[in-house]
Amino acid sequence: MNGVLKIGVLASTNGTDLASLIKFEKEGKLDARIALVLCNKECPAADKGRKAGIEALVVESKGKTREEFDELVAKELEKRGIELIVLIGYMRLLSTPFVRKYANKIINIHPSLLPDFPGMDLDVHSAVIKNGRKTSGCTLHFVDEGTDTGPIIIQKTVEVANDETPESLKKKIQPLEAIALLEGINAFSQGKIRVEGRKVLLSDANTSAVLLDGRKLSEKCLEESRKKLEKILVKEKPPVLQVILVGDDAASKVYVKMKKKACEKTGIAANIHHLGGNTSEKELIELVEEFNSDEKTTGLMIQLPLPKHIDTRRVLEKIRLEKDVDGLNPANLAKKFEKPGFVPATAKAVMRLIEETGVVLEGKNAAVMGRSVEVGVPVRELLVKKKCVVTTVHSKTENPKLATGSADILVVAIGRPNLVDASFVKSGAVVIDVGINKLDGKLVGDVDFNSVEKKAGFITPVPGGVGPMTISMLVENVVEAYENSLQNGLKA
Ligand code: NAD
Repeated sequence: MNGVLKIGVLASTNGTDLASLIKFEKEGKLDARIALVLCNKECPAADKGRKAGIEALVVESKGKTREEFDELVAKELEKRGIELIVLIGYMRLLSTPFVRKYANKIINIHPSLLPDFPGMDLDVHSAVIKNGRKTSGCTLHFVDEGTDTGPIIIQKTVEVANDETPESLKKKIQPLEAIALLEGINAFSQGKIRVEGRKVLLSDANTSAVLLDGRKLSEKCLEESRKKLEKILVKEKPPVLQVILVGDDAASKVYVKMKKKACEKTGIAANIHHLGGNTSEKELIELVEEFNSDEKTTGLMIQLPLPKHIDTRRVLEKIRLEKDVDGLNPANLAKKFEKPGFVPATAKAVMRLIEETGVVLEGKNAAVMGRSVEVGVPVRELLVKKKCVVTTVHSKTENPKLATGSADILVVAIGRPNLVDASFVKSGAVVIDVGINKLDGKLVGDVDFNSVEKKAGFITPVPGGVGPMTISMLVENVVEAYENSLQNGLKA
């Protein structure tokens, strides 16, 4: 049990199921915490919450439209980081914006089998008996825009005896409602619920995400680049990549060596220019300009980070767009990577890995954690280009899980070891981990792999995910720059 999922209960009446949930939580059976009971009027449910030491709030609805009232409710839920909304005897119709905002995050327990006999309390049981039904029960379902029409999560059934009364039926069904609620919330908390259209898939087993193997895909991409280069190569003018490294950052030294090796494997000459840590900005810019006008240079990249005394942006701005194979000249981002600019290698790597999943991106929710100019912002732009609905989450975001928890695509580039665990992730999501961090002498990502792989649909490992793909995408860009230079006869 992780006990971290925060649930908010919306109630208007007795809250009998709330009392059962409170009991389950006390007994350690509930994989969640009841963080709030919110009522639209004073009612026994609010009292039950308060007595159990749970915050109980009454939001006044008088004089407010349904939308205005729900907006207030949403604010209260957001303030407390509520991740799942549970309706227990909530006597209000929810507004469409509210239902859309919390799609597949609102559950309702219903004292009958859907789609039959919606109604409340004894009326529903009377209807079952009157209509000669042989079975009845209860339904736990997600709330959609219709009245009690949302995807069904769990149904429990009982036999309707010949001499059944509404009261006796209620007595049989009430305990089942409590169990259905418990099972549904626990399944939600453990990432065992997947919703596909109107279907809810409940898994018992601990499913594992499909691993997106960046090493393997990178080898494939390098081989494609090698073949392409072989076809277009002009022997007297071979492609050359200039890599500038300033200072002695240990990780950077490793990365530039890997880039050189991948280039050479593909048939590209790569020269590493290792400058001292006290190189001035002026000296660095002079070198950039020298390569800009050097006819033999196909591509030019500066390994980041640069020492603090150098203004990175000012230097990157000087790289000629046709040769900016790492795609980091800010003008390139402003022009949304239109030619002659290139898509930044890391962002391109992220997109290629997402493409590998075969998931249709158009209209999907995506969250990008991190808004650096090198990674987070380009990835956001590329996802928007693919018609995703994209939310950027950064260090000042108040409730990051609200965005990440509904994201079908989650890209994490924050440089915080293992910060993103399963509670951030929507069940079945594509999770791309850009982070590279050292923790206890080991390389780890920003995503807590062990916890997230049980919930996600696809996941990249660290190492072996985005890292190798970034290198092959750089190589791809160099080959493209070379092709362009041959076609356009690029002059100094
Ligand atoms: P950065 O430090 O420039 O930016 C980090 C971003 O994360 C910022 O926008 C910040 O607001 C956000 N952030 C920080 N803490 C957060 C939190 N708790 N919740 C939400 N957002 C938070 O970093 P960067 O250059 O974008 O790199 C990010 C990570 O990706 C680093 O680990 C870096 O080593 C790695 N990286 C990997 C590759 C690769 O090829 N695999 C390439 C570049 C960067």
